[in-house]
Amino acid sequence: MRIILLGAPGSGKGTQAKRLMKDREIPQISTGDMLRAAVASGTEFGQKAKAIMDAGQLVSDDIMIGIIRERIAEPDAENGFILDGFPRTSQQASDLEALLAELDKPLDAAVLLDVDFSVLMKRLTGRRTCSLTGKLLNVYFSPQEELDAVTEAGGELIQREDDNEDTISSRLDVYREQTEPVIEFYRERDALKTVQAEGSVDEVYERLLAALD
Ligand code: AMP
Repeated sequence: MRIILLGAPGSGKGTQAKRLMKDREIPQISTGDMLRAAVASGTEFGQKAKAIMDAGQLVSDDIMIGIIRERIAEPDAENGFILDGFPRTSQQASDLEALLAELDKPLDAAVLLDVDFSVLMKRLTGRRTCSLTGKLLNVYFSPQEELDAVTEAGGELIQREDDNEDTISSRLDVYREQTEPVIEFYRERDALKTVQAEGSVDEVYERLLAALD
């Protein structure tokens, strides 16, 4: 299965992709995670990417399609993949279409996780990652026992650097201007499925599976 998860920052793409990855045994390819790994490695590219990410802007299309081309050639993506955070512009979508045609690996679907904009800010400002397990939590929505369990185990709740209010509002503007047209790209190709993505993680996951069947 080769799918794309589309949706605004905070719509739950990463959370849902991780579940689907376990169930279907195909990798989650998160361009945000790949860029954060580049930032952490401290390379020159990583430093440039950090400045762009901190400003809530997008890394250039040429670089991103190059990263994706290399990643989907890895052996673990042979039987499929879940793209999370890519494509984010119409140019990336058409580059991806050309790449998958060249590789003879057509997409099965592009799934839009649809969340009202008013919900996104709370999801993003509250988002934390457990330093021990990588589990995603939210200080507003996760059960208090789960949040306490992290600190009791000696871990920390880490907040992403770009999850502050200023950067979030730039990211949401960029989403509206540059990424929303990608939804139309897949709608026009009759490849778009929309999942109502408010509610619990389990509820959204059930809807996602139903949309993929
Ligand atoms: P994410 O974790 O998907 O929210 O991505 C975090 C940041 O990484 C974004 O705000 C962008 O600066 C950058 N980024 C991730 N994916 C892409 C992409 N496909 N194209 C351009 N920039 C990206």
